[in-house]
Amino acid sequence: MDVKKETPEQSEFRDHCRRWLRENRPPALPSRLPEYAIEVMLDEHRRYLCDWQKKCYQAGLVACDYPKEYGGGGHSGFQRIASQEMSNAGVPYLINVIGLGMAAPTILHHGTEEQKRCLLPPLFAADEIWCQGFSEPNAGSDLASAQTFAQRDGDNWVINGHKVWTSLAHFAKWMIILCRTSHDDKYKGLTYFVTPIADTKGVTVRPLIKITGQTGFNEVLFDDVIIPDAYRLDQVGNGWQVAMTTLLHERGAAEGAGGGGGEGLEERTVGLVRLAKKIKRNGKPAWEDAALRDRIVQILIRAEGMRQTHRRARVPALTEHPMRIPLQGKLLISELMQDAAALGLEIEGAHASLYLGDGHAPDGASWPLAYLNSYGITIAAGTSEVQRNILGERVLGLAKSK
Ligand SMILES: Cc1cc2nc3c(=O)[nH]c(=O)nc-3n(C[C@H](O)[C@H](O)[C@H](O)COP(=O)(O)OP(=O)(O)OC[C@H]3O[C@@H](n4cnc5c(N)ncnc54)[C@H](O)[C@@H]3O)c2cc1C
Repeated sequence: MDVKKETPEQSEFRDHCRRWLRENRPPALPSRLPEYAIEVMLDEHRRYLCDWQKKCYQAGLVACDYPKEYGGGGHSGFQRIASQEMSNAGVPYLINVIGLGMAAPTILHHGTEEQKRCLLPPLFAADEIWCQGFSEPNAGSDLASAQTFAQRDGDNWVINGHKVWTSLAHFAKWMIILCRTSHDDKYKGLTYFVTPIADTKGVTVRPLIKITGQTGFNEVLFDDVIIPDAYRLDQVGNGWQVAMTTLLHERGAAEGAGGGGGEGLEERTVGLVRLAKKIKRNGKPAWEDAALRDRIVQILIRAEGMRQTHRRARVPALTEHPMRIPLQGKLLISELMQDAAALGLEIEGAHASLYLGDGHAPDGASWPLAYLNSYGITIAAGTSEVQRNILGERVLGLAKSK
């Protein structure tokens, strides 16, 4: 079976990425970055990560496949390479993940010429952070039930409502937002906008505290917020179709679009081996317990399966359905990360109860933190149950769930 080979230009670009990342790795911060970009809450971290993303953008590692006229590199098939190399290099993650992974592709597909020219370059450079205002207290998996209402008023829209779980809203200048503009039809009554939320009259951003004790996401209240019609994306009543473009990218159908960097699967799984060699059980390193070692190896095998799945995504014969492999990827990797973190806790034993800020916690308490965080990752961007429904119905053609 043929795997699409890299072109000479792509191989040259990979060398450029490797060299540049080797020579430009930013110095570590005195305080530790959170596990994921969507959890960044300190201004010091925000500044550091925005500077880093801007540098990566200027070096051609961000927005590589976007047209040049909108601030992109004008290439094809380069972003996946840049993202892979950033992850392999273990450099910090890109902070504008929602902008890069969701807002930018949606604006590219549905935006006007002016929207693309004005909104995309500062998004790529992390000069403007983006967040996603889809979920509401009564509209999560059933997103089309969104009730935040946008009322037309001449050339403006007046927005009232309540969004929730809005990652990065505390730093965001812009939000992609799905609003109800009519009650006549559940789906055709939705319209999609981009809206400024920083220093905007009528917008209140309130942080929510997670089980980890950290924040990162928020609820956002809209009280008679006025935006011009120029901020509407696509036609009135076409919001559901536009939201599908966003979700296609959010749920992993556009591999590597959100950029790379940060601690990935590799770090987590190899970390299990390191941890087991370090932690003592009955006076010996836990790694010497054959039953435990077997369970670690099972995780390593699944991780290798994930790596091969990425390769399979480049086999044209396996991608006749474009969502098949990327949708599986989101489901499998989030559950694998959860199982790896749970095993990490088991290896640590009683030490797992030592949490952030405790100098005696092994690996700086990264295992209990990863375990608690892992539940959010199986919920965000579509829960595992919903993801399984989508795979069953749309990829395998099974009967629709009730
Ligand atoms: C870390 C994190 C970050 C997030 N960031 C954002 C963000 O930036 N912007 C944003 O808009 N949202 C964000 N979300 C919200 C996320 O999209 C929703 O939590 C998710 O879509 C689920 O919706 P819900 O929480 O309302 O749960 P519900 O939809 O109420 O689901 C509750 C339970 O019922 C199950 N369920 C629901 N429907 C079905 C079905 N048809 N078949 C089988 N089981 C079903 C679900 O799997 C789940 O277990 C974030 C969530 C998390 C955890």
